[in-house]
Amino acid sequence: MAIATINPATGETIQTFEPLNDVEIDAKLDLANRAFESYRQTSFQKRSHWLEKAADILEQDKAEFAKLMTLEMGKPLKAAIGEVEKCATVCRYYAEHAPGFLADVPVKTDASHSFVRYQPLGAILAVMPWNFPFWQVFRFAAPALMAGNVGLLKHASNVPQCALAIEEIIHRAGFPEGVFQTLLIGAAKVADLMTDDRIKAATLTGSEPAGISLAIAAGKQIKKTVLELGGSDPFIVLASADLEAAVVTATTARMLNNGQSCIAAKRFIVAQAIADKFEKLLLDKFEALKVGDPMQPDTDIGPLATPGIVQDLHQQVQTATKSGGKVLIGGHPLSDRPGNFYPPTIIIDIPPDTPIAKEEFFGPVAMLFRVPDIDAAIKLANDTPFGLGASAWTTNDQERHRLIEEIQAGSVFINGMVKSDPRLPFGGIKRSGYGRELSIQGIHEFVNVKTVWVK
Ligand code: NAP
Repeated sequence: MAIATINPATGETIQTFEPLNDVEIDAKLDLANRAFESYRQTSFQKRSHWLEKAADILEQDKAEFAKLMTLEMGKPLKAAIGEVEKCATVCRYYAEHAPGFLADVPVKTDASHSFVRYQPLGAILAVMPWNFPFWQVFRFAAPALMAGNVGLLKHASNVPQCALAIEEIIHRAGFPEGVFQTLLIGAAKVADLMTDDRIKAATLTGSEPAGISLAIAAGKQIKKTVLELGGSDPFIVLASADLEAAVVTATTARMLNNGQSCIAAKRFIVAQAIADKFEKLLLDKFEALKVGDPMQPDTDIGPLATPGIVQDLHQQVQTATKSGGKVLIGGHPLSDRPGNFYPPTIIIDIPPDTPIAKEEFFGPVAMLFRVPDIDAAIKLANDTPFGLGASAWTTNDQERHRLIEEIQAGSVFINGMVKSDPRLPFGGIKRSGYGRELSIQGIHEFVNVKTVWVK
């Protein structure tokens, strides 16, 4: 894939970028290594100060950064502004809490003095996706830099200007040169990078094949990885649920980011007793969504990021209908305009045991399933290779207890939408990946947990 800004709302190529050559990559790795040697000695106070400054820059220039995101990957501008604000929040969160999270932990043993100390590892490679081009990077960078690591960003090839803007923000915030660098390189270079001794570990947010490829390369070098991969999150609505609230959230949860979110609700599993009503209300909500220019403030759904995503999504919709599914609304790319537009789509009656029912739909397509009771709901929710997040709706205590206990996912949200929050760990199980980002767990992923024992 060429490294380029291509406006997904028009198909126009705005700017292309030459990938770095081997000599340039080598120079950046060298700089990262040298920067680490002095950066690791800096105080938490200094790092917090720089990170607070990064938050200030994000807040001051949020309109500019948001436009860049919308231009490169098509999310509605209002959502892009929210994303920049959230990046400032994660910076402030770690600026405040990292010193506590990384403080020595005394442990009573047979030693006179024993404790755990957290130390940085060095240069961490972050392979990131285009869907939340700022958020995914800041949720890695804020804890990694607070821990004293240095960051190397290989961003998705369709968001190079976002990647360069983030490097610039961290530089303007005052972090020393080389502490955070963007590498404009293609995916094919990543496996080779993992063989370089100057890179100590890696994190990847993206698709399963990309995660597998990185994990194999890192595994051969015994290097730590964190993988945040795909999901086909269930959204369960039981008969006792507040139906109105569930439908409003269901719509947001599916349509967030034009439907291109790993934690979007993708499989709607609804109790038979309320299914007709839920279906009707959801249809009304989908019908009311405005698809169009993502730069306009009243647009709900912008274009998908690339023509390839439209193609893949439509192929999945066709497979779903061939497998017995019925399209209630949408179901075809919008061919009356340029750009990568796909309308809000609902598919019902897909046999739950067909392979397509277990796939991740990365776009504004909802699959609706009816179940007789909570047993069937939990069984269907877990019947997927993924295990990222789950949203479940009930007002019954016993049901709530069972949903929390029995759903196989990295997170369960009861009567709410799955979302990331700096204060809570984020990540998946099964084929959604491993490791956690955010909260105290996130900052402990890329540190040496050193045991110290003194007699
Ligand atoms: P993708 O193709 O895997 O791309 C993500 C990143 O990985 C890009 O930087 C890409 O570079 C790179 N990449 C691709 N193939 C690679 C390989 N073989 N080795 C190393 N790096 C490689 O993912 P996507 O399709 O853009 O993003 C959508 C996927 O990401 C969905 O499955 C979604 O659920 C998942 N996702 C997960 C989370 C989470 O937190 N769990 C969050 C967001 C998205 P190029 O752009 O140069 O190809």
